[in-house]
Amino acid sequence: MTQATRFDGHAIAPQTEAFLGQTHKLLIGGEWVEGSGEMETLDPATGLALTTFQTGGKAEVDKAVAAARKAFDGTWGRMTVAARTAILHKLARIMEENATLLTELDILDNGMPRFIAGLTTSNVVEMIDYYAGAIMRIEGTTIAPPRHIADETEALTYTLREPVGVAGQIVPWNVPLSTAILKMAPALAAGCTVVVKPSEMTPLSVLALGQMICDAGFPEGVVNIVNGLGADAGAALSEHPGVDKISFTGSTVTGKRIIAASMGNLKRVSLELGGKSPVMVMPDADLELAIPGVSMATFFLQGQNCMAGTRIFVHESIHDQLVEGLAGFANSMTLGHGLDMGSMQGPMISDAHSAKVMSYIEGAKAAGATLVAGGEKLDRPGNFIRPTIFTDCTPDMAVTREEIFGPVMAIQKVATTDLDELAALANDTPYGLSGSVWTKDLSTAHRLVKRIRSGHVSINCHGAVGTNIPFGGYGESGWGREFGNEGLDAYLETKAVTARL
Ligand code: NAD
Repeated sequence: MTQATRFDGHAIAPQTEAFLGQTHKLLIGGEWVEGSGEMETLDPATGLALTTFQTGGKAEVDKAVAAARKAFDGTWGRMTVAARTAILHKLARIMEENATLLTELDILDNGMPRFIAGLTTSNVVEMIDYYAGAIMRIEGTTIAPPRHIADETEALTYTLREPVGVAGQIVPWNVPLSTAILKMAPALAAGCTVVVKPSEMTPLSVLALGQMICDAGFPEGVVNIVNGLGADAGAALSEHPGVDKISFTGSTVTGKRIIAASMGNLKRVSLELGGKSPVMVMPDADLELAIPGVSMATFFLQGQNCMAGTRIFVHESIHDQLVEGLAGFANSMTLGHGLDMGSMQGPMISDAHSAKVMSYIEGAKAAGATLVAGGEKLDRPGNFIRPTIFTDCTPDMAVTREEIFGPVMAIQKVATTDLDELAALANDTPYGLSGSVWTKDLSTAHRLVKRIRSGHVSINCHGAVGTNIPFGGYGESGWGREFGNEGLDAYLETKAVTARL
C-alpha cells in the first residue's frame, strides 16, 4: 500500500488552511468557550488527522440550554419578524462569500466528492433564504367560536402559531452541513433557539458556520454548538428537561434511544432515520435513463445516503441488459479524494464503518448472491470500497434487508408486472424513506407510487428532494417531515384563543 500524503497531494484554499489551524471550541451564549474534552477528526480519504476540536458533556449542554432559554425568553423571542428575516438573509450572504471554505470542510471531514459538496453548499444557502422568506408567512386562522357562546358577534376565536421553544438538534456525519442547516433554518425562522450537536466524526463545517452566525449578528445564545460524543453530549441534550423539542437525524437504533430519552418532559421529537429504499424497474423502462439513474440511486455519496435505493427489483425481460449496464457504470466510476475534480466516489467514513460494509459484502457472497461488480477495497490509504453489485438476491438475505450505508446494490429479478405483487415486494421492509419507479408509462408509475409505503418516491429519477419538498419517513424511517412548509410546522405550536367580547 502507498504511503498516505496530506489531502492526497491536492491543494486547499488558504482560508481552509487557516481554519484547520485554529483552536475549535464550543459556541455557548455567543462566545467560544473551552470544552471539557478534546477529539481528533480525520480525513477519511487518507486516514490522516485534520485537526482537533473541543468537546462537551452534560455540564456544557446545561450551559448551552440555559443560554438558548435566555435568548428565547429575551432578545430572539421579542425580535420583530422583519429583523429575524434580515439576519437570516445576512447569514446566507456570508455563507455565499465563504462557500469554498464550507465546501472544502465537508470534503475533508466527510470524504464526499467535490461535486456533491459544492451542491450541498448551494443548497444550504437556498434553505436559509427559503425559510427567511417563510417567516412573514407564518400565520394562524380565525375560526367560528364554540357553540356554548350563543351569539357569534360577541366572540372571536383565532389561532396563533408560536415557536416550540428551545430545540436540540442532533446531526449525523453523512451530510454534515446540510443536515445541520435543514434543522437550524426552519427552527430559527419559527423563532426557536437551538443547541446543535454535530457528529463527532464531522464537526468542522458546523463550527465554521458558528463563526458566520456570530458575524451575522445573531443575538447571543440563539445558536449554540456543543460538539461531543453521542453518549455524552447527545444523550444529555435529548434527555434535558429544558429542551422543548429534539430533532434527530441518524440511525434507527439511536432514534429509538432518543424517543426513550425524550419521555421525561414529553418533548416534541422529529426523527429522520435509516432506509432500504426500493427501486422498481419495469419492462418498458428507458435504460439510457435507468442505467446511470439506478447506479447513482445506490452509489451517490458512496452509498452513505439515507435515501439510497439499494433494493433493485427488475423485470426478467430486461434483467440481463440492465445488469450489464449497471456493472459497466459501476466499473467506470472513479474513486478518489473528494478534492480531486474527477472523483465520483469517496471513501467510507471510518475503518469501523468500512469493516461493516465489507462484512455485508462477504455475507452476501456466502449467502449465495452473485457478485457482478466491485466487492473489494482499494489497496491505498483510506477506506475506498468499489461500487458493488449483487444479483440473484433473495428477500431474506441481509444484503437485501438491512441498511448497509455503503456502495452495495442488491438486485432481485422479478417475473411479475402485477402492481400489487410489486408493491408487496417493495414494502417488505420496516423502512419507508425513499424509492423510485422506472417506466415510460406514467399511468403505471403513478399507480405503483400510490401503493409504495414511503415518504418520498421519484419517477424516472431517484431521491429528487429539494428545499421546498417535504421529506421524511414511513415506518422505522422516522417521525415527521423536514423541508418545505412541513419543516417549518415542526418548530411551531398552535395556540387557540377564544375571546368573549
Ligand atoms: P448515529 O445514530 O450513530 O449518530 C447520529 C448522531 O447521533 C451523531 O451526532 C451521534 O453523536 C448522535 N448520537 C449517538 N448516540 C446517541 C445517543 N445515545 N443519544 C443522542 N445522540 C446520540 O448515526 P450516524 O452513523 O451518524 O449516521 C448514519 C445513519 O443516519 C444511517 O442510519 C442513515 O440512514 C441515517 N441518516 C438518515 C437521514 C434521513 O434524513 N432520514 C439522513 C442522513 C442519515
